[in-house]
Amino acid sequence: MKQVRAFTRKIAVFLAATGIGCAAAAQSAHAERLAIIGAVLIDGTGRAPVPESVVYVADGKIERIGRVGDAIPAGTRRIEARGKFIIPGIVDAHTHVDSLGVAPMTNEQKKIAREYYPRAFLFNGVTSVVNMSAHVPAEVLALRDRANTDPKALVPRIYTGASHFTADQGWGGRHNGGIKSPDDINNRMDDYAARGFDLVKIIDEDGLGDETVFPKIAPEYLNAVMRAAAGKDLPVFIHATDADEYREAIAAGPRAIAHGLFTPLTADSDIVADLKQKNIFVVPTIVLFESFFVFLDNPALLNDPLLNQSVPDFIMAAARNPETIKTMRGRMDEILKMDAAAWARDSLPALLANTRILFEQGVKVAIGTDSGGAVMHAFQGYNTPREIEIMADCCMTPMQAIVAATRTGAEVIDGQAIFGTLEPGKSADLLLLNGDPLADIHNIRDFDWMMLRGHMIERSTLSYSSYVSERQDGTPALP
Ligand SMILES: [Zn+2]
Repeated sequence: MKQVRAFTRKIAVFLAATGIGCAAAAQSAHAERLAIIGAVLIDGTGRAPVPESVVYVADGKIERIGRVGDAIPAGTRRIEARGKFIIPGIVDAHTHVDSLGVAPMTNEQKKIAREYYPRAFLFNGVTSVVNMSAHVPAEVLALRDRANTDPKALVPRIYTGASHFTADQGWGGRHNGGIKSPDDINNRMDDYAARGFDLVKIIDEDGLGDETVFPKIAPEYLNAVMRAAAGKDLPVFIHATDADEYREAIAAGPRAIAHGLFTPLTADSDIVADLKQKNIFVVPTIVLFESFFVFLDNPALLNDPLLNQSVPDFIMAAARNPETIKTMRGRMDEILKMDAAAWARDSLPALLANTRILFEQGVKVAIGTDSGGAVMHAFQGYNTPREIEIMADCCMTPMQAIVAATRTGAEVIDGQAIFGTLEPGKSADLLLLNGDPLADIHNIRDFDWMMLRGHMIERSTLSYSSYVSERQDGTPALP
């Protein structure tokens, strides 16, 4: 800890002296060269770490990777990072960044939550997200565009869908997604493409438990959405969770399946072979299903300082309130026609085992959370590093879990030429970890500084309380 603070102070003095991190200097920061000196570099490709690296950053991108001892060109700003471990910024491949979840909120609180959420991702090390569907699509589009046009905006890189396609009265049909007619599909696809959405999500789901609760999307509609999306060159993500749904999804040929598989699987299953053969990614979102019960079983988990620093206080209050939890669970159990927490508790082992089989057999598995999903504890941002820990626990080495959370996440959205690894020409999105994540994956949560699109950001400035003080000071509260 002492070493950490000494480093933080050192870098703070350095930053103050050079002006990086203050608004005035940040404007010119893109024109200047930076060198992050002495850290162990884990670049997201899966290659062996580079000890004593020098990461050169110019114009918001990685310029090149050198070694300590190289002559550093004059005019390069130096950031001392000895003792640190650099990994790429995390990619969450299944989010809903504007989803308010199920905690009861006033209108003012809703506004605050939506405004803060982009920073909650950054606070937890997430620098890029694949936003499967949006509740207020125009707002998410605007956020995405801000991240793309203003490198200093405190907003992760966003790829977003609009409303999902689902059966009329089907799963998620409450959020405007129900398909009314074949024309409906083409009209919506025209609209989404014209407005510049990045992806399409289809829901193929009849309910999570054994009982059929929802009508599934008709096969002809599923295929019509696939054709319409292909016509607009938009990648498709399909929500599926059991073997029948997986087979229907695989037959349709999407970019990825947006949840893990619950029906017990064997390595020689056609599902494994077909996912591989068609190069379909799987984003298991295990943390979502864990969140159905883990905070209920162990409320002490709600005391994690990192959780409380990156979730609005009124949401934490709701997440702790037994009455609120009871009401929300009751509502969810009524919709799903089962005790959802008990179902998830019983079903998680199969999900974990299947994910392990898929990964071991060579299916590409990415990190995603379904943040803002339909349970109280599907926390925005905070749940992403948790998914990486789960993956390292069940299915992957720490190095493989880091690759899943970085390079594979970028590949899911075909963004690997832009971000996901720390190689020349890629966006300078990185975390300066205080401990070795290969020795202990939990170290992915332990950092004081990060870089977003070439700008150094002190983590504490991304906390909810910092955001609240900014609001009170009257500084623009926009992320
Ligand atoms: Zn989702």
